[in-house]
Parts: sequence; structure tokens; C-alpha cells
Amino acid sequence: MSGTIISPIHDLLNDLHGRLQEERGGEVATYIPELGKADPEWFGVAVATLDGVLYEAGDTEVPFTIQSVSKPFVYALALQDRGMERVLQQVGVEPTGDAFNAVRLEPETGRPYNPMVNAGAIVTSSLVDGADAEARLDRILAGLSAFAGRPLAVDHKVLVSEAATGDRNRALAYLMHGAGSLRCDVDDSLTVYFAQCSTLVTTRDLAVMTATLAGGGVNPITGQQVVSVEAAAGALTVMATCGTYDYAGEWLMRAGLPAKSGVSGGLIAALPSQLGLGVFSPPLDPRGNSVRGVAACQELSGRFGLHLMRPTERPGPVFHRTLRGDTAHSSRVRCHDERAALTRAGRAIAVYEVRGDLAFNAAEEVVRTITADTESVRWVILDLLRAGRVQTVAATLLEAMAAKLGERGITMVVVDSEQGVPLPSAIVAATRDAALELCEDALLAAEDAARHSVSLHEQDLLRALDDDLVYALRDYLETRDYQPGERLVEDVAALAFILSGGLAREVVVGGRAVRETSMGPGTAVGRLALLDDTGHAHRIVAEGPTRCEVLTTANLTRLERENARLVDALRWSIARALAARLHRADAENHALMR
Ligand code: GLU
Repeated sequence: MSGTIISPIHDLLNDLHGRLQEERGGEVATYIPELGKADPEWFGVAVATLDGVLYEAGDTEVPFTIQSVSKPFVYALALQDRGMERVLQQVGVEPTGDAFNAVRLEPETGRPYNPMVNAGAIVTSSLVDGADAEARLDRILAGLSAFAGRPLAVDHKVLVSEAATGDRNRALAYLMHGAGSLRCDVDDSLTVYFAQCSTLVTTRDLAVMTATLAGGGVNPITGQQVVSVEAAAGALTVMATCGTYDYAGEWLMRAGLPAKSGVSGGLIAALPSQLGLGVFSPPLDPRGNSVRGVAACQELSGRFGLHLMRPTERPGPVFHRTLRGDTAHSSRVRCHDERAALTRAGRAIAVYEVRGDLAFNAAEEVVRTITADTESVRWVILDLLRAGRVQTVAATLLEAMAAKLGERGITMVVVDSEQGVPLPSAIVAATRDAALELCEDALLAAEDAARHSVSLHEQDLLRALDDDLVYALRDYLETRDYQPGERLVEDVAALAFILSGGLAREVVVGGRAVRETSMGPGTAVGRLALLDDTGHAHRIVAEGPTRCEVLTTANLTRLERENARLVDALRWSIARALAARLHRADAENHALMR
């Protein structure tokens, strides 16, 4: 396929294909005469990934009849249409170790042993939706086509050939009808089954169809949910236990993949959640499996490390970083007293930044770590912004933890902007900053350390000034009250001391105001405080009812004229405050870099 030509995976497939093409063992099946016409040299290998990329080598576009490789797909359709319990009533799931056409039913129930042997497959195709044989066949053809992602058709010559020589299947069907496990008309059932087996596919189709099973029923090319996750898993399960006739046990031992083979030389193998493999080469070994197909799958399984029973690589550490609220702070600018309280008591806020996918094992570690440390912690921030897929089991464990923490008076805040992991017992915040600010506010309230109003002489910028200077400053200030959302007009405010309420700095992005940071009572804003009088991309708005003492630009000019000592003291104070803020930012960066 285009774009994959220089891929090393492509080279690897070509190399494998070239070597195995030389393998001349095996016999083309002839018991269905039409199949005997196959060219023993045909050999195609295709791999489909779950995001719809195909890697191919050899004759991947030669059409052939799907035969028994149809069985897991039709089983998935039956599970989808009838549900597992109903299907199990009529077809078992026990491996037989018998040949594909063995005439043997479960003695007690008369059920065929599993849906991968002919007997089980005949019953399975009678179980899909459809009032009559025609409707069932339509359902099967449409279903197989949806698995392949393109319309498939039946090869009538092979169909006629199968029907003419299908006495063994006919015998099986009569036996099962007599035993009650086949409840549809015998001829009808066989017509559907023969047509199903005579459906034309290519190696490429097989890879896509198998990737659909591996991807929980979603076709990687079309994106269609062909069958449910449960139905796809059911098909993979029987492939694992009974997919390669009486070789199923050894196959699983060697290749470690759910698989299914058919007499026309098709072979599929799936790695759940990762890929689908399709191989086609007509010569069969004595058990009816494609000689080159078996060799190709086993080699690919080994080289790509696909064996299901071998442990996967251990994922990296679950925690990207853990922080405490005494060193990591939100961007809210707080007055001296609040800062002091956070430095003193901030360890009660714990931040856990999680990375990677969260399946059971990672979630277990998260839950274990967080719950082990509840003595000093009152607020837990779980930052999922770096997490990959959060599986249902992980979400369930996290929610149960949030509920338990809640019972102990510990609040959990989850930072999750995209996934919407369902955690009703936690508070959701869009950013870590917002989560921290929320927890800091709660901690300050709990510590009785929140400053709701701060008088002028206690303002951060004025604390170090002599009383007479603060007193003199009053003459130049104007008290202003702002309504929530009201904007401070910046050319008026050279400096605004916040007495009560709070201000937010917003930037306008694409016509929408985005809150950047905020300031509480005791802190100041304005051109003078920021020491910049260039144009502003941001704007300052009141968060709630807010009272400020404002030094307007006009009054600043007057002040500069009348009291040079005061202006000087103010400028020094601002410089010291800025230096202190830089120090804090440095310390914080340091803490974050650990
Ligand atoms: N249509 C073939 C049969 O029933 C399928 C057998 C197979 O591929 O295993 O004989």
C-alpha cells in the first residue's frame, strides 16, 4: 500500500513471503472439486492495524472462497443477534480435538461441540437474524461485507460444487435436526452454510475482517461498529480454543494467537487490541491448515512478540510527578498572610500527575499510593491530563476511592479536560491551576486564614512603608466599587489596591475571554505595579463585588509632582515585590522540575 513502501515492516513481510514461497509441502484440498483448481503457488500475507493501515506482500488481491474462516465471523453475528446464552443453548464452546467434519455431538444435549467445526457452524448460521433462509443469507453476506469493509459476493461454481459433494455436512445436519440442536429446515440450513463458505474474499479482506474482531467489532477502515465488543470477544475466544481443527492446542502454544483456518488455504490470526493477520496459500497440511499460512503466522508472532500469554513490556512509571501544596501553588496572586498560611499548611494538598493508559494495574497503583497517604492530606488533586485511555475498571476504582476519601473528609479534585471520566464523587477541574486554586481556597477557609478584606496599610506593597507615607498616599487615592464582570479601565488605574473581592486577568482568544490568573485582597494591579505601559493584550475584570483603592494616572502625575519621596518608596516597594515574586516562581519551577 502507498506510504508504507519504505517501512521496515513492509520489508520484513516481503522477506518472509520470499522465503516461505519456497516451501512446497502440503496438498490443495480436492474434496470440493472446485477448490482443487487453486494454484498451489498463490501466497498472500496481509497485516491490518487497528487504525486502518495495511501491510501486504504477495497475492493479497487474489479472490478465493472463505470457507471455514467465515465461521468466527458468523458466530460473532449470531452472538450479536441472539445473545450469548441463547447461542450457547444450541452450540457448545468445548474444543473437540476432532477433524473439522467429525460426526460427533455432545451425548447429553445433542449440541455440536463448538462453532468452529462444521456441525457447530451449520447451527450457528441458522441462528443469525432472518425469518427464512434467504433473509439469513442476506444477513450473513451483509455482515461479512461489513467486516471486510466492502461488498462481498458468493462464488456460484464453488457453491454448486460444495452442495454436490456435501453429504457429510448433510448427514451432520440431519443428525442435529434429529437431536433438536438444529431447529431450522435441514436443506435451508445447508444452503445458507454452503453459500457462506463460498463467499469470495482476498487476503487483504481477511486482515481487515480480523482487525475488526481484534478492535472490539469496529472495522478499522470504515469505522463501522459491525458487532458488539462482547460478540467480537466471543468469536476470538472460540478461535483461540478451537480455531485450527485438531491442531488448536499446539497452535496456541506456538503462535499464541486466536486463529481460524479454512480448506481453501485461508488463515487468520488476531492480536486483540492490536492487529489482524490474514494469510492465503492453498496447499494444506494433513490437519487441513495452510502450510505457508501456519509458518507465516508463527514466524510473525515470534518476530513481532505477539504471543498472548507472554507478558507485555512493563509500562513506565504511573506517576509523572507528585507535588504538595506547600511548594506548588496556583497562579492566583495572594496576599502575604495567605501565602504564609499556604507555606505552613499547604502539605494538606497533594497533587498526583498520572501518565499513560490506566488499566487495572496502573489504577491499582494510583489507588494504593493515594490511599496510603491520607494522614496529612485533606485535598487530593488527580491530574489526568497526561493519562491515556482510562479503562472502565480504572474509572470504577478511582470513583470508589473518591467516595471513600469523601467519607474521611478528603476532597478529590480530578483534572480532566477531554475524557470526561465518570467520577461523580470528585470535583472536576479543567486545568491543574484551577484545581490548585480551588483547593487552596478551601484550605485557607478551613484554616481560617482567608483574607476577605485587607486595609490599605496592610497591603503587600505598603506594609514596609512608614505610616506617614501611607497616610499621605490616601490623598491621591479614590475608592472604587466594581460589579462582578466589570472591567477596570486601565488608563485610569495606574495602580489599584484590592481591599476586598478579587480581580482576574483575562486574555481574549478568538473572541472568547480566557482567565489567565487572578488576584486577591491585599495585592495590587495596574500599569505601575506591572511596570509596563505598553499596550495590553489582557484585561482586568472584577470576579465578584470588588472594592479597590485606585491611583489614577492623573493622580499619579500630581503625586510625582508633589511627593517625590512617596513615589520613590512606592517604586522600591514594587521592585521588591516583583523580585520576591520572581524568587517564588523560581522556587516553584525548581519544585516542578524534580
Ligand atoms: N465448506 C467447507 C466444508 O464444510 C468448509 C470446511 C473448512 O473450511 O474447514 O466442508
